[in-house]
Amino acid sequence: MTAENAALVVLSGGQDSTTCLYWAIRRFGRENVRSVTFDYGQRHRIELDCAARVAADAGVGNVRLPIDTFAALGGDALTDSQISVESQPVPETGLPNTFVPGRNLIFLTFAAAYAYQHGITHLVTGVAQTDYSGYPDCREETIDALQGTLRLGMESDVEIHTPLMHLSKKETVLLAHDLGAIPAMALTHTCYNGERPPCGACPACLLRAKGFAEAGISDPLLDSA
Ligand SMILES: [Zn+2]
Repeated sequence: MTAENAALVVLSGGQDSTTCLYWAIRRFGRENVRSVTFDYGQRHRIELDCAARVAADAGVGNVRLPIDTFAALGGDALTDSQISVESQPVPETGLPNTFVPGRNLIFLTFAAAYAYQHGITHLVTGVAQTDYSGYPDCREETIDALQGTLRLGMESDVEIHTPLMHLSKKETVLLAHDLGAIPAMALTHTCYNGERPPCGACPACLLRAKGFAEAGISDPLLDSA
């Protein structure tokens, strides 16, 4: 493994980051890819197990890093079990109540620090600005600015790759298909309600189902349910 080819994928255990893992394997070679999963106090611990299984199945290493501060901040439905996931945006912000402020900024900053310590140049993240809930930390402009900040602040050549940035959910499913990643989708987790088999009714389940339906591909997670 050399730094120029080494890549670290931020792997949440979901559909998008799993697609990115396979994208990174194709681009950099399996032996050059590692994955990192953040334990940020998410209500659905199943995500952590899914990430580990996806990585093992793909034959890449997975390191789990703890960040226990988000839950202490409060106010979002992903880390606070007192708050239920709402399908409508919060009126004051226009954002869903699953928005964890700064989450991707923190993830990528820790990922960059890990990469720095392990001689890894490339970071890969599944953020996208299309077809999603409008999370401001998923925008290309945000990621570009963060990459500049990380390069400056760490004196590094870190490069952040966002293969899904401009893809619709349908196109993401088609990319996964091209990469041979569809079988791995059976190991992923998407449901905001933490249910397995998935609830089929929450915004995350509905968006996932729409993507697979439009791509004309059946979701192996549902097939195995
Ligand atoms: Zn669901």
